[in-house]
Amino acid sequence: MTDTKGGFLSTEDDPYNRVLNATEQDNGKPAHMTLKEWERHQLLKSLRQRKEGPFEPGLSLLSKDGVKCRECGSLEIDWQWEEVFHCAICSRCKEKFPEKYSLLTKTEAKDDYLLTDPELKDPELLPHLSKPNPHKSHWHDMMLFLRYQVEEYAFSTKWGSAEALDAEFEKREAEKKKRKEEKFKSRLRDLKKKTRTEAFRRNMGNGGKPGQFGDAVGSGKHQHEWGQTVENTDGISVKTCVECGMEVEELEF
Ligand SMILES: [Zn+2]
Ligand SMILES: [Zn+2]
Repeated sequence: MTDTKGGFLSTEDDPYNRVLNATEQDNGKPAHMTLKEWERHQLLKSLRQRKEGPFEPGLSLLSKDGVKCRECGSLEIDWQWEEVFHCAICSRCKEKFPEKYSLLTKTEAKDDYLLTDPELKDPELLPHLSKPNPHKSHWHDMMLFLRYQVEEYAFSTKWGSAEALDAEFEKREAEKKKRKEEKFKSRLRDLKKKTRTEAFRRNMGNGGKPGQFGDAVGSGKHQHEWGQTVENTDGISVKTCVECGMEVEELEF
């Protein structure tokens, strides 16, 4: 057996090792991995699954002997949660107390607790579980956070209290509303200006006087008959009068 320095077997050393040789047929090797790295990865994965070698429960779990569910005292805790979240909890208690032990996505933690990306990406601040994205396999892994930890951090560390978080939330909603209203007003001003200009131009063309906003246009004295609202090339919703061809922007309410 050759010393691979990594302390792991290679295919040459052990041609009958199922774990190593199975990877040859595995077309899952990522392009950035050499064959040797991929073999090592597969071996580790297989050992981990079978809980052998360094992953034998005896080695890691015995040292944590006596760790009990923080709610009911059961010894059957979720070891993955213990490892990732440092939270000893059994599966029954997870179900029983969703207000503490449900998992939040990153988006939920951002929207509901006003946490930021840098905060959420820092496992020292908030540990998270990584899960492959169920919708798009090539997307980033989903980051899942434990609700009571997010709340503890958001209430105590970041905002000071649940009430302070609520206040900040209200403040941001109010700002959002104000920005929306300002945008609406400015679009309304633009619209009036545009309509007046159009009416003026048409009146002049017909030898008439400049009209007011909302006036029937030209000497024809017709009421505009608006067609269906359509999106123009600038992505703005407009409607056109079927009689005179005048075009106005349609405001979104
Ligand atoms: Zn329990
Ligand atoms: Zn018209």
